[in-house]
Amino acid sequence: MVRAIVGANWGDEGKGKITDMLGEKSDIVIRFQGGSNAGHTIINDYGRFALHLLPSGVFYNHTTNIIGNGVALNIPYLVKEINDLVEKGVPAPHILVSDRAQVLMPYHIDFDAYEEERLGGKSFGSTKSGIAPFYSDKYAKIGFQVSELFGGEELKEKAYRVCEMKNVLLEHLYHKPLLDPEKVYQTLLEYRDMVKPYVCDVSLYLNQALKENKTILLEGQLGSLKDPDHGIYPMVTSSSTLAAYGAIGAGIPPYEIKDIVTVVKAYSSAVGGGDFVSEIFGDEADELRRRGGDKGEFGATTGRPRRVGWFDAVASRYGCRVQGATEVALTVLDVLGYLDEIPMCVGYEIDGKVTKDFPTTTELNKAKPVWKVMPGWKCDIRGIKEYDKLPKECRDYIEAIEAELGVPITMVSNGPSRHEIIKR
Ligand code: GDP
Repeated sequence: MVRAIVGANWGDEGKGKITDMLGEKSDIVIRFQGGSNAGHTIINDYGRFALHLLPSGVFYNHTTNIIGNGVALNIPYLVKEINDLVEKGVPAPHILVSDRAQVLMPYHIDFDAYEEERLGGKSFGSTKSGIAPFYSDKYAKIGFQVSELFGGEELKEKAYRVCEMKNVLLEHLYHKPLLDPEKVYQTLLEYRDMVKPYVCDVSLYLNQALKENKTILLEGQLGSLKDPDHGIYPMVTSSSTLAAYGAIGAGIPPYEIKDIVTVVKAYSSAVGGGDFVSEIFGDEADELRRRGGDKGEFGATTGRPRRVGWFDAVASRYGCRVQGATEVALTVLDVLGYLDEIPMCVGYEIDGKVTKDFPTTTELNKAKPVWKVMPGWKCDIRGIKEYDKLPKECRDYIEAIEAELGVPITMVSNGPSRHEIIKR
């Protein structure tokens, strides 16, 4: 059985926590896209962890954790993340890396920073992890697949050929130091030795696992609104954040994905630039930012303050639709316990007309929020284990969200830790 855990919003919905929780009953957890550019925060018996590249199943002895072919594989980062876990007392996790994954190179990180510098005020707010240059190279067919590290002389030739192209840009566009092709080749050889213990024909491995009826989790990174096709282009990431891509980025048949757990946040948060209709500012925003998540709304990778806003039903319903959500996990609901009244954006006004359908970016920047205000519950709901024990105002808020989404909310997360969850 394959189940995907994906985000309906801008990312940081709390997918890591849900994956860690569902990982308990899973055999395999797979990252299928993205790289080390976003973090999953996980709080469990070993402590508090921010995982960037590793799947969130690494805390269980019985799970195999896989970096799928769709991931931007930063090899030194992977090794560092594994070592960090072991140093903090987590038993060495079982990791496999797809032989079809591509390697994120140090120059991808440099190009990311150079491009942001060149764009100045018009930058995308990149985390400068090299993700956009990495995927550009992958699709331009000048990336390095893990399997190529184990090839022969061709690797050296390719390293020289790639550097020739990169150096034109470095010299004439960015005015930065040039790449030394011999050094790039040596880096590839070092990476080969580092990744060797983990390399596997992942698609074949999963094919076998499916025959044996193993439970498989696909762990998404970021959310629907960051998808390059269906998100707020160009303020998006460079690989698909949708459950459908899980089939490609892991190497399994699409019909095997039976359940799409879409994580929806009880309010909104976003990092980087771009339109954000339900965004709030000033003291109101500062308070929500300070109380948000488990340590305030600050990026897990960059530490940047996240932009915050009220729940956006238009964006979230769309986010669920493009994921193909079969069920919703509503997270960080406990954070809202301080409010007398809770606004919710239930429509967008564009050119004088109200719509509930999420538009393209061109229209989105004209959208003004249409608010509905719900009463707050004014208490701490952490520690509550049963849905019926939640205050009535809180249940009304959840049910109003469910009606807007049109997808059953099967889980309500009322605290950052593994067991702080209410199942319905
Ligand atoms: P991910 O990228 O979707 O895995 O999300 P992150 O881990 O970046 O962000 C979610 C943040 O919210 C983290 O700091 C989590 O510890 C925290 N979190 C997750 N679920 C809950 C919840 O139900 N309540 C609270 N207060 N914090 C939560």
